[in-house]
Amino acid sequence: MSISLPELPYGKDALAPIISANTLDFHYGKHHKAYVDNLNKLIAGTDLEQKSLEEIIKIAVKDSAKAGIFNNAAQVWNHSFYWQGLKKAGGGTPTGTIAAKINAVWGTYDKFAEELKNAGMTQFGSGWAWLVLDGDQLKITKTANADTPIAHGLKPLLTLDVWEHAYYLDYQNRRPDYLAAVIQNLINWDFVNANLG
Ligand code: MN
Repeated sequence: MSISLPELPYGKDALAPIISANTLDFHYGKHHKAYVDNLNKLIAGTDLEQKSLEEIIKIAVKDSAKAGIFNNAAQVWNHSFYWQGLKKAGGGTPTGTIAAKINAVWGTYDKFAEELKNAGMTQFGSGWAWLVLDGDQLKITKTANADTPIAHGLKPLLTLDVWEHAYYLDYQNRRPDYLAAVIQNLINWDFVNANLG
């Protein structure tokens, strides 16, 4: 068994002009693929070769000697989750169960959107902004580099990649503009609702 690169849930140009086909070519076709290839090399011939991606992450996070495995495995998982959380003509005011839950915590969608954007903007260096469930509590959080909420007992509902490779081709250094555009135009609320399950 080896870890495979999942298919993108849409075409390379589906998220344009918010995220260009050029960015998806590099981000999915080079970066995400490299994490998959690196992970498979690192686990080849070890006990981890027979484990699921989630199991590999949960084992490797407890062992500092497995930091390289953790980083690549978590990046594979985070990217697969990120792609699913986006869709053409998504974003804006949420629908379904998540809408009421967001209003209960943040009062308004606008306040939620501001805090999600702020989490991404204030992640120093590379990382991820997240909407998660901590038990029954809806929270916005952020992780550095490859770190992932599933390694810490949290249930991810949505993530936004704030590594420079996620936005530099389209927005150069303007991370806030990338975050605002994605939140307004691409969030897949159906995916978020399904994750509430
Ligand atoms: Mn990325």
